[in-house]
Amino acid sequence: MERNTIEIRGAHEHNLKHIDMSIPRQKITVVTGVSGSGKSSLAFDTVLAEANRRFFYTLSHYSRQFLDLGARPALRSASGLSPAIALAQNETQASVRASVASLSDIGEMLGVLFARFAEKRCPTHDLPTEARSLDEIVGFAKSQYFGRTIAVTVTIADQKKGQFKKQLEGFVKKGYSKAFIDGKLADIDPIPNLAKDEKHDISLIIDSLKVDPSKEQRLRRSIETSLNLGEGLACIHTVDTKGKLESRSGQHISLQSGCPVCHFAWPRLDTRHFSPNSLGRCEVCDGRGVIIDEDDDPKAEENFEPEACKNCAGTGLDPKLKSITFRGRSIQKFYMSTIKDLFEFASESVDSSLGDSAAVKLVLETLLNHAQRMMDIGLGYLHLGRRIRTLSNGEAQRLRLSAILNEHLRGVLYVLDEPSQGLHPREIDRLWKAIERLKSQGNTVIIVDHDPDMMRRADWIIDLGPGGGVQGGMLLAQFDPKEAKAYAKVSATAEHLYNRLTSVARAPVKHSFKEFIQIDKPRLNNLKMAKARFPLGGLTVVSGVSGAGKSSLVLKTLFYNLHQEIKSKVWNKPKAKTVPWFCSGFSGADAIEFCTLISRKPIAKSSVSMPATYLDIFTDL
Ligand SMILES: [Zn+2]
Ligand SMILES: [Zn+2]
Repeated sequence: MERNTIEIRGAHEHNLKHIDMSIPRQKITVVTGVSGSGKSSLAFDTVLAEANRRFFYTLSHYSRQFLDLGARPALRSASGLSPAIALAQNETQASVRASVASLSDIGEMLGVLFARFAEKRCPTHDLPTEARSLDEIVGFAKSQYFGRTIAVTVTIADQKKGQFKKQLEGFVKKGYSKAFIDGKLADIDPIPNLAKDEKHDISLIIDSLKVDPSKEQRLRRSIETSLNLGEGLACIHTVDTKGKLESRSGQHISLQSGCPVCHFAWPRLDTRHFSPNSLGRCEVCDGRGVIIDEDDDPKAEENFEPEACKNCAGTGLDPKLKSITFRGRSIQKFYMSTIKDLFEFASESVDSSLGDSAAVKLVLETLLNHAQRMMDIGLGYLHLGRRIRTLSNGEAQRLRLSAILNEHLRGVLYVLDEPSQGLHPREIDRLWKAIERLKSQGNTVIIVDHDPDMMRRADWIIDLGPGGGVQGGMLLAQFDPKEAKAYAKVSATAEHLYNRLTSVARAPVKHSFKEFIQIDKPRLNNLKMAKARFPLGGLTVVSGVSGAGKSSLVLKTLFYNLHQEIKSKVWNKPKAKTVPWFCSGFSGADAIEFCTLISRKPIAKSSVSMPATYLDIFTDL
């Protein structure tokens, strides 16, 4: 029989004080405690590390890439472990090129769709570049020109200087008598006298006929003849009732692969050709989507948004790929649209794919499922081309979570690091549903978190403490949150959870602020408000769901402008010359002497735990 708990004995990694504990299998456990109490030492450096050590070679290649085999963790014994996968915060910060598409596998599936099923055209002439048989060309002409009068022609000159007497004589001898010369119907017997030093367009008319079922054999013969005379290349023009050309450029038809005009041909395409990380990369930005100036101060790169690459519109994809389309959409278009757009496109395409092969349907359905999962977890608003570096930690981790849900693994131990971080309470609901799905697939989940909403919903809580650093590392209590009351005396967490259920909301404090920093019409990313005001001498909380624009407003608009004002004050530069960043007006900051940005970046970047006192600043805030 399968054991139903993971038993850890004598764990003493970092500051852990030789603690013993039981973690229920196929349940959700939250490991909590004050900063520095040893939560990560227990979840990541002990349980995860020991599981990785034991099960590394039993995992799939896909899963192995997330593992990092470290030294043997400090513990006396462990039993009941499963293969483990970590969804830690900082690992997704790594690659410059990683995007929502590449991390979610949607990029790979789109690559399959485009390499196998897309229509390929010449980037210069917008003409089909795939070799077609005579049957296919006749079929194309029948459906494209049904009921219309066409002229099947062979091109003799295409914007070329000369009189072309010899070529024309040759065709006259074969019995042809008419041509379109510079866009007009003309007799070629006798040979016309063309201006020698001018460029001409000459198309020899092989046949002119109305496309209808009674003339199918004639249409076929004419096309075949024209392709023979044109050595595999010919042209179809539409003409009006008087025999006049409807447009000067006709439809090129070709038995050869490659563009009929310039012979451009795509190589044999595979998924790599549609990836900004591989053969599909934009040459200007090397697939990054942004221009990073190497000479720039590296500090500037941290805080300031690099300039989007104009060559590829920030997608990182080779602009030539625009000529390859699936149902009229290029890969670029997909990268510039959201997961929700993809979902709608894929569901429409699946509905209308009756005539398509089972393979197209399968790819579309896979895309649909991926997009659905990401929407379930509240990521529908993300653009596929969005860089992982620009996501919040919570967004990046949820993205990883949705990819893992697609794997449908069973019997795995998942370790998550503060997945609720940066989430609005409304979003925690959806996050929790995804985590529960992991559990219902038969997996065990351990979450390091101190969000009360997460703790309240957990099956099991492990509370570490009582302090940080040397004062931490002890097991205060392990309990089912429904029984929090019984542990309220030994565990502050249990006490808090119990009180939360019974506490009364405090009356709001009244404020009377007189001075404000005001931002008029902030317009960065999706910001649409008329103005934003921050009281001087007050503590302002900016709240909203992920992607609502909190960072755009505070980290970019407010901070850049404050920074600029202070800089001009320090250097005594005339203020009139500066234009506000990302908004129409910025005022009220005259009294500000200094501003500093405390972001979570430096914390997330380092895997070494920070001194507890430093982290406590944030707890108090
Ligand atoms: Zn071409
Ligand atoms: Zn580019």
